[in-house]
Amino acid sequence: MLGRRRVATIVSSERRAALTGWGRTGASVARIVRPSDIPATTTALVGAGPRGATPRGLGRAYGDAAQNGGGLVLDATAIDYVGPIDSDGRMLVAGGASLESVIRAAIPAGWFLPVTPGTRHITIGGAIASDVHGKNHHLDGTFAQHVESLTLLLPSGETRVVTPESDPALFWATAGGMGLTGVILEARVRLTRAPTRFMTVDTYRTRDLDHSMSLMTESDSRTHYSVAWVDLVTAGASLGRGVVTCGDHTPVDAIAGRGRQDARRWRPRPAPTAPPVFPSQMVNRFTARLLNELWFRNAPSERLGELQPLEAFFYPLDIVGQWNRVYGRRGFLQWQCVIPFGEEDRLRRIVEAFVNGPAPAILAVLKRFGAANPGPLSFPAPGWTLAVDLPAARGDALATFLDHLDREVAEGGGRIYLSKDARMRPEWLEVMYPRIDEWRAVQARVDPHGRMTSDLDRRLGLTAHASARMRGTANRGMGDTR
Ligand SMILES: Cc1cc2nc3c(=O)[nH]c(=O)nc-3n(C[C@H](O)[C@H](O)[C@H](O)COP(=O)(O)OP(=O)(O)OC[C@H]3O[C@@H](n4cnc5c(N)ncnc54)[C@H](O)[C@@H]3O)c2cc1C
Repeated sequence: MLGRRRVATIVSSERRAALTGWGRTGASVARIVRPSDIPATTTALVGAGPRGATPRGLGRAYGDAAQNGGGLVLDATAIDYVGPIDSDGRMLVAGGASLESVIRAAIPAGWFLPVTPGTRHITIGGAIASDVHGKNHHLDGTFAQHVESLTLLLPSGETRVVTPESDPALFWATAGGMGLTGVILEARVRLTRAPTRFMTVDTYRTRDLDHSMSLMTESDSRTHYSVAWVDLVTAGASLGRGVVTCGDHTPVDAIAGRGRQDARRWRPRPAPTAPPVFPSQMVNRFTARLLNELWFRNAPSERLGELQPLEAFFYPLDIVGQWNRVYGRRGFLQWQCVIPFGEEDRLRRIVEAFVNGPAPAILAVLKRFGAANPGPLSFPAPGWTLAVDLPAARGDALATFLDHLDREVAEGGGRIYLSKDARMRPEWLEVMYPRIDEWRAVQARVDPHGRMTSDLDRRLGLTAHASARMRGTANRGMGDTR
C-alpha cells in the first residue's frame, strides 16, 4: 500500500523538460523527478528505464554533466536537511542541501566550509561528484578530502555507507565521479574553524602574468586562500596582467567595537535576478575590453588587511542571480584546465592565444593547486588552473580554437575539468585522465548494467558501457565506409 502511494507520488511529480548546465548550451529533454524521500529516490532510480539516470543538484556544472537526454534526471534537491554540528566541527548533511544552507548553520557556531567553489549555490552531492576545489587547494585539497563518510544509493537500489577506509576504491571513484556511481544521499563533512563572518584580504594589482604567479607562489606560505583575476583581452607588455587577492578568516579581536556582536551573524542580501532578455551580441570584444579595463582600474595597486564579508571574498558572482543570462540565448562556455608546475611557458602560450583568439574572454581566473588526492577522476593536480568564460556565439571558430588548446593542455600533462566541460573531444579523455580504466572498473562493479549515465558520459565515453558503445559505433562507422 505504502509502496503504491510512493509510485503515485513519483508519477505525479514527474515532468519532461529541456535542461542545460549553467552555460545554457546543448539542451536536452529528459524526464525529471524530484523525490522527497529515500524510498521514492530508490524507486525512481531502479525504474529508470533504458536511457538510465543522472542525479542533478542545483545545475551549476557548466556543461552536460547533470543532463540525460531521453532518460531520467533525478533532481536531488528535495532532500536537503542540515544536521547539527558536533564539537569537532563535523556535520551530517543531505546530498541535496546547498552550501548556502550549510554556511547559514555553520557561521553562527564558528565554522565554515572546508572547501568552497566560487558559488554557494551548489549542493553537497554536486560538491562531492565534481570533487570541487576552492582558493585553498594548495593547503586543504578538495571537498572530498573533508568528507568522513557518504551514504550512496547504488544503481542496484542498495543504500551503502562508504568511507575512505571501508571501501577506498568506491569512495574515491565517487569523489569526482560525476554522479556515475549512484546518488549521494548524505555526507558527514568536517568543517573548518571560522571565528567570524569576515575575511582579512590583501589585494595587489599585477603588471603581467609572471607577476601574478610570483605573488601567488609567495602568498602560499602566508595566507590560506588566494586567487587571481587575469585580463585576457590586453596584449603586449601587460599580457596576463591582473588582480591577486589573498585572504584569511578574520579573528574576533580584529573587529572593532560594536561590530563584534554581529561578527557571526551571516545574513547576505538577497540577490537581484538578471532578466531573461539579453541579446547574444551584447557580450562582444568591446564589452569584454571595457569590463576588463574597469576591473583593472578599480583595483588598488596594493591594499593590505581589508575586512570583507565572506560572501564578497568567496562569492562575488553570486551578487546577481541567474547572471548566466547575460550571455543571451546562445549561452557561454567555461574552459578550465590545469597545467603542471614547470610548464609555465605553456600557460603563457595559452594566455596569449586567448588574447588573440576568436572569442573575447570575459572573465578569467587563475589558482594554484597543491597535491592531487587518490580520486582517479578528481580534476586537481599540482599546477596552475586557469578558468575562462567565453560567449558560445562564435560557433565553429571557437570549437576549433578550443580543440587546439585542449591539445596544448594534454601535451603538457594537464587536463580539462569535466564539471565545466561542454565540448571536449573524447580522444583526450584517456590522455588527460590516465587512470580512467581503474575508475571504470569500480564504476562497473557497482553498476554492471549501466544504469547510471549522462549526456557527458555519452559524449566522452566515461563509463565502460558508454565507452564500449562509442567504440561499437565507431567500428560500425568504419564498416559502413568499406
Ligand atoms: C559561478 C560558479 C563558480 C564555480 N566555481 C567553482 C570553483 O571554484 N571550483 C569548482 O570546483 N567548481 C566550481 N564551479 C562548478 C560547481 O561547483 C560544480 O559544477 C558543482 O558540481 C555544481 O554542483 P550542483 O549541485 O549544481 O550540481 P549539478 O551541476 O546539478 O551536477 C554536477 C554533477 O554532480 C552530480 N550530482 C549532483 N548531485 C548529485 C548527488 N546527489 N549524487 C550524485 N551525484 C550528484 C551530477 O550528476 C553532475 O555530474 C562553479 C560553478 C559556478 C556556476
